[in-house]
Amino acid sequence: MSLKTGIVKDYRYLRHETGSYHPESPKRLEAMYEMIESPDMNGKFIEIEPRHATHEEIEVIHQLSYIEQVAGTAGKAHTTLDPDTSTSPESYDTARLAVGGLCNAIDSVVKGDVNNAFAFVRPPGHHAGPNRAAGFCIFNNVAIGALHAINNHNMERILIVDWDLHHGNGTQHSFYEDPRILYFSTHQYPFYPGTGGVQEIGRGAGEGYTINVPLRSGPGNGEYLKIFKRILQPVALEFKPDMIMLSAGFDIYYKDPLGGMKVTPDGFGMLTRVLLDIADSCCGGKFVATLEGGYHIAGITESAKVVLNGMCGETHVTGEELAKAEEEADSSIDRIIETVIKEIKPFWPVF
Ligand code: ZN
Repeated sequence: MSLKTGIVKDYRYLRHETGSYHPESPKRLEAMYEMIESPDMNGKFIEIEPRHATHEEIEVIHQLSYIEQVAGTAGKAHTTLDPDTSTSPESYDTARLAVGGLCNAIDSVVKGDVNNAFAFVRPPGHHAGPNRAAGFCIFNNVAIGALHAINNHNMERILIVDWDLHHGNGTQHSFYEDPRILYFSTHQYPFYPGTGGVQEIGRGAGEGYTINVPLRSGPGNGEYLKIFKRILQPVALEFKPDMIMLSAGFDIYYKDPLGGMKVTPDGFGMLTRVLLDIADSCCGGKFVATLEGGYHIAGITESAKVVLNGMCGETHVTGEELAKAEEEADSSIDRIIETVIKEIKPFWPVF
């Protein structure tokens, strides 16, 4: 079945400069855009025009004083916001455009202009907290996007899946006491930023609505798939989100220079299939991905290509292929799966 897939793609996202040796380089998106414009991909997607998010929109997650601090970097050659995160003259504008691009992608999916969408934006967002930049992130795109969907589209429940190599501490923090947003993260651990332990499951009304699957280095396609099928899928079907959002970090790619995971492009395709299946069951296929990390340029483009082909229905990973890959998972992954389930069981009757 062919589906309409929207993409946010704008060369202005290259204007946030990070310095010659920084892994979060404009070259990442440049390569992604080349892939999207290549003869076998060109014309398959509906381009969604981004816009600059307003301070008011960004304020749903970030403190005004922090937004103004970032705004103050506009036009300045270089400002250091965090040991890993600095700005160039156009970073503030670019960061607002990243938020606005994702919000427009969400609007397009909700309006039905497209079935699903992928925002190829930078800077990434999932480490950014209320009053600080962190880990290459300035504004938390996915967190602002989730609240945008709830506040403007009468949505009640959003599932955020974060398969980036790193724990999305900013996103987790934003919704730690909020049962409307279920945050599910797989990540290398212990590792930057240090959070994301299995016992971090939310607080107060949000207890049970944060699920962390911390992993030693090593897991690949089968292991990730098993985690998605055994933990994420049952919980998500019970949660019944109105939309699924993905913090799509491609730094779990097997050759990523920062990470120790072993996911291949086919693996990304399988994980995407699981998410699309959940979205089909729960929310008419509403699925919006946004780019987070991923630093092996050829790897992230090849992987994103497989994800996009799955989203638009050009390829379809079968249930048999998923089952086979899951069977091939190394049994060492079972222990963390059981540990996570034990932790969240009181909140999810499905277990
Ligand atoms: Zn990452």
